[in-house]
Amino acid sequence: MDSMTMLLFGATGDLAARKLFPALFRMFLDQKLPEPFWIVAIGRRAWSQSRFRSRVEKSLLDFCQDRSADFSRLPAFLQRVEYYEMDVRQPQAYLNLHQYVRSGEGERLIGDNRLFYLSVSPDLFAGIAGNLQSSGLSQTNGWRRLMIEKPFGSDLASARDLNRKLGEVFAEEEIYRIDHYLGKPMVQSLGTLKSVNPIIHAVWNSPYIANVQITASETIGVEERSAYYDQTGAIRDMLQNHLLQLAIMTAMHVPGRMTAEEVRAEKRSVIEAMRPLGQEDVRLHVVRGQYSNGSIDGTPVCAYRDEAGVAPRSMTDTFVAARLFIDLPRWQGVPFYLRTGKRMNEKSTRIVVQCKSSEEAELPNLVVIHVSPNQGMTLRLNLHAPGMPGQLEPVEMAYVPNQKHLPESYEMLLAEAMRGDRTHFAHWEEVELAWRWVEPILAAFAENRVPLHHYPAGTNGPDAANRLLEEDGFTWWLDPEDEPLLTPVHAR
Ligand code: NAP
Repeated sequence: MDSMTMLLFGATGDLAARKLFPALFRMFLDQKLPEPFWIVAIGRRAWSQSRFRSRVEKSLLDFCQDRSADFSRLPAFLQRVEYYEMDVRQPQAYLNLHQYVRSGEGERLIGDNRLFYLSVSPDLFAGIAGNLQSSGLSQTNGWRRLMIEKPFGSDLASARDLNRKLGEVFAEEEIYRIDHYLGKPMVQSLGTLKSVNPIIHAVWNSPYIANVQITASETIGVEERSAYYDQTGAIRDMLQNHLLQLAIMTAMHVPGRMTAEEVRAEKRSVIEAMRPLGQEDVRLHVVRGQYSNGSIDGTPVCAYRDEAGVAPRSMTDTFVAARLFIDLPRWQGVPFYLRTGKRMNEKSTRIVVQCKSSEEAELPNLVVIHVSPNQGMTLRLNLHAPGMPGQLEPVEMAYVPNQKHLPESYEMLLAEAMRGDRTHFAHWEEVELAWRWVEPILAAFAENRVPLHHYPAGTNGPDAANRLLEEDGFTWWLDPEDEPLLTPVHAR
C-alpha cells in the first residue's frame, strides 16, 4: 500500500466512533495500514488533542468487537491520529488545512496520496468537494480518493445532482461509494461460492431455483433518527441500496476475473434486466407497512406514529416487501422477494435460495447465506431417515465461521479503498439504475396509491407480505433460532 494521509471529516461523529475508529484500530493491529500513515481527524468541536484522543480511546473500548484485541498498542495507534478543528462550510479553513496537511506529510515523509472520507451529513458533500478543489487540497501529485456513505440522494434527480457536483472535482474512478453490506465477508464470498463450487454453480439458474428471498429485518425502531427516518422510509433507507445490492450480488454472473471493471459490467447487466414496475405493478408487487404498538422480547413498545419526532399521521414505510424479476435467461420466471422492516421479531440479514422441489421430497433444498449479525451458510438437503426406508427427512449442513475473527465491513472496505480496489463499492451507474427502479414505488407511496398495512411491533411484518409469496405458491423461510430446521412461516 502507498503511504497516505487519511482526512476524516466528521471524526467526532457517531459513525467514526462506532465503526471507523474500531476498524482502523484493528487494521493497525493486523498491520493492514500503510506505512507511514496518519489520520487528520476533522471535527467542529473546540477539542484539544488529548480530549479527542481520549474520546477515540473510549470508543475503541466500547465498540471494538474483538475483545481479544491487544489494547496495549492503543497509544501507538493514537499517535497516528491528529485532531483538527474546523467548520467545513468555511472556504478559508481549507487553505489552513491544506498547509497543515502539507507540513504533516513533509514531517512524516508521506507521499502525496490523500484519502478523503466524508463521514458527515450528505448535504455537506458537494460543498466539501468544491472546497477541496478550490483550496488545492484535492490536487495531488499522487492519487486522491473520496469515500462517501449513503444516502446518495433521496431520489433520482437529487442523486444525479449530487453526482454532477462531485464529478466536477473527482473522477468516477476516484469515488468510493460505501454500501457496508458489500463489505460483509459472506457477501464478498458469494462470487467464490458460485464460481468454484460446481454443486452450486450448476444449479444457480432458473431450471433449478424456485425463488430467492432476501430479508433484512431489525428489532429496533427509529431511535434518535426519527426526523431523518420520517422523511426517508424503508424504501430509501434499505431497499434502494442494500437490498438491491444483495439481489444483484446473488444474481450476478461471476466474471472470470474479479476486477472492479468486470464486476461492474456484470452487475450492470443484472440491474438493466430488472423488470421495471409500471404504475399498476406497484400495487401488485410491493407491500408497504408501518409498525403499530407491540412488544419486543416481552417489552412493550409504541407504534411508529407515537415515536418522538414522528408526525402523528405519518404514512412513512417502516416495512417494505417487493417482488422483483430479472429478465435474463438464467433467471427467467424466478421471483426475487425482498423484505426489510423495523421492529420485526428478529434481527437478521440473510439470503435464502430455494430450489425447486423434486417429486419425492416434500421440502425443497435451500442454500442460506447468513449475512448478519451471525455470518455463515446453511445447506439443506433431503436424506433417508435412518432405519426408516422410504421416509425422507431434511438435514442441514452449516458452516459457522468463528465470528470473533471475521473482519468488520468497514475494515474490508477501508482496506480496499486504501489499495485502490473498487470491486465492492457502488458505481454511479448502479446507484442511478437502482433509483430508476424504485422511482415508481416512491411515486405510488407519495400519492398513496398503495395501502399502508400496519403490523404489530415484534412480528414478521404485515400479512400482505405473506400473501405476496402465497400467490406464487411460496412462503417466507424463517431463521432456525429455536427450531432445529429452517421452517416455512406457515408452519409456525
Ligand atoms: P453525526 O454523528 O451527526 O456526525 C456528524 C459529524 O459531522 C460530526 O463529527 C460533526 O462534527 C461533523 N460536522 C457537522 N457539521 C460540520 C461542520 N459544519 N464543520 C465540521 N464538521 C461538521 O453523523 P454520523 O451518524 O456519524 O453520520 C455520518 C455519515 O455517515 C452521514 O452521511 C450518515 O448518513 C452516514 N451513515 C451513518 C451511519 C451510522 O451508523 N451512524 C450509518 C450509515 C450511514 P461536530 O460533532 O464536532 O459538530
